[in-house]
Amino acid sequence: MAIIVQKFGGTSVADTAKIMAAARKAVRAQQDGHQVVMVVSAMGKNTDMLVELANEISGQPPAREMDMLLSTGEQVSVALMAMAIDALGHKAVSLTGAQIGVRTDSTHTNARIISISTDRMQSLLDAGNIVIAAGFQGIDEDFNITTLGRGGSDTTAVSLAAVLGASCEIYTDVDGVYTTDPRKLPEARKVSRVSYDEMLEIASVGAGVMHSRSIEFAKKYAVPIHVRSSMSDGIGTIIAESPESHDRVVSTAAVTMDEARITLSAVPDLPGTSHAVFSVLANENITVDMVVQDVGDNGKSNISFTVPEAELDLALKALKPVAGQMAFGAITHDANVAKVSVVGLGMAQQTGVAETMFKVFAEKDINIFMITTSEIKISCLVEREVALDALRAVHNAYDLHVQPENVIQVGSPSEEIQRDEATRASVAERLRGVGMEDLSIESITLDDSQSSVSILGLTDRPGVADTVFSHVAKAGVLVDMIILSYSEQDGNASMSFTCPAESREAAIAALEQLKEEVGFREIVSQSSVGKLSVAGVGLRSHTGVGIRMFRSLSEAGINVDMINTSEVNVNVIVNGQHNERALEVLEDAFADVLR
Ligand code: ADP
Ligand code: ASP
Ligand code: MG
Repeated sequence: MAIIVQKFGGTSVADTAKIMAAARKAVRAQQDGHQVVMVVSAMGKNTDMLVELANEISGQPPAREMDMLLSTGEQVSVALMAMAIDALGHKAVSLTGAQIGVRTDSTHTNARIISISTDRMQSLLDAGNIVIAAGFQGIDEDFNITTLGRGGSDTTAVSLAAVLGASCEIYTDVDGVYTTDPRKLPEARKVSRVSYDEMLEIASVGAGVMHSRSIEFAKKYAVPIHVRSSMSDGIGTIIAESPESHDRVVSTAAVTMDEARITLSAVPDLPGTSHAVFSVLANENITVDMVVQDVGDNGKSNISFTVPEAELDLALKALKPVAGQMAFGAITHDANVAKVSVVGLGMAQQTGVAETMFKVFAEKDINIFMITTSEIKISCLVEREVALDALRAVHNAYDLHVQPENVIQVGSPSEEIQRDEATRASVAERLRGVGMEDLSIESITLDDSQSSVSILGLTDRPGVADTVFSHVAKAGVLVDMIILSYSEQDGNASMSFTCPAESREAAIAALEQLKEEVGFREIVSQSSVGKLSVAGVGLRSHTGVGIRMFRSLSEAGINVDMINTSEVNVNVIVNGQHNERALEVLEDAFADVLR
């Protein structure tokens, strides 16, 4: 009999009436002929309340005890849900993470799933029960309770669907995935489908509708998801392999409000610098996000990156000793920034996509502090105060409120989320002997056709990115990777991009014409650079990937000129003379996790 996993989030079980409504949905699915596993979150804002209680007692509660505390929220709701099903006259058994056998590592408050045993759930299902699983929690080797990170019940649901070979429905307080958070922009449009890669990226940059690690599971183990409303029976959004339409370059937008920027200026431009910087941050478990290292200028370069505002103090403290050892110019920071991002699979095939974003910001007089791009995402760091306006402007500029043409249809949602025997068998095979959330690298590639161009000493004001990239585009140059970083020290910015080697001269000529209008000190360029890409799933939640790249390249004496990261790629640019060696070095460094 086909199994279905139905997950109900906090607001969908916020009171007993909602619990009863959720219970009825599960019973209906059972009557339709499914075996049903419900995954339930803590009621309403219960988890927030527990966090507050802990903070009243201590500024730094021990992480193990935090997990002991937070896991109780879900224990309450699974018990009530089982009672609700019983009251409806059906059989149900509630299980904690430990009782299911959700084995995790010991990273308290942000644990990764190693394995899930299906025996107990399967025999309860076979005996006619609806199984009610506590979301968000697991147990480590020493029987300590762990939690998967805030919002982690989605991850429980998708991972259970993966191991059970089940269909997966996520019931929540919106009726699907929107082009951006509908609570932030009322003009946001519900999308009929979104691809795994788009959802991975957008979830990691602010679209809180799905826990981004749940999408890693979905992609890795081919689990299509139906995100839908717990209040109605309407069709929601399918998250699967293909996007809503191939006609769209940008499909979704999001904003992360609580960012903070750190800039290390005049850092010695030597192999090993990035590694030294990012490994101290990784040791403190700080989530580094946008990373921009600009091209060296007189043997010095600037490294800028963002961290969640809440982790800023810890990051600054961790960096202090490194700054002493490496003789930085200065460490500066800005805690009042936000990141606006757009995502779309179509970007990978089309150029000039970023230009639209720069243009709207120029028109709105919004200054951009940092830019990073990946194959399918563009992020701009802006002042927090203008972030919502920036999001609205971008949403409008890419016509996200308008239904695209040629929408892809793949059967009904209930058909589409079914998993066939072949997929189930291949997932079971792949799960043998490896951790479910282990790092898995799909490929390491070298693109040796590129050159790089950097503009140094750029006057930083609204509209600069627009002027530069519209001019470069007019010269017929296909720009690939773009980074912009702003140095507070001298008030100047530097902007770098890569383009095909044969267009380098045209790009430089176009830029020279702008010298007066834009105002910059000089252009430096490298006629041949190598773009090395490590591709996989969940590369940012595995912070070690960047570190491993930096370490192995630095040990080989290879300097990293530019860096950009996304959920599915970490790219570095090195001087062309190192191409072959750099590829070898990375292949060695990742040999153990390359599939
Ligand atoms: P749950 O408790 O069910 O897990 P969440 O609060 O975690 O629900 O996620 C649902 C919320 O996600 C919505 O209420 C909405 O405000 C927010 N959200 C953010 N981005 C998006 C988006 N792109 N589409 C839909 N909802 C979004
Ligand atoms: N209750 C947990 C939280 O609020 C997990 C979840 O709801 O997904 O973060
Ligand atoms: Mg959630």
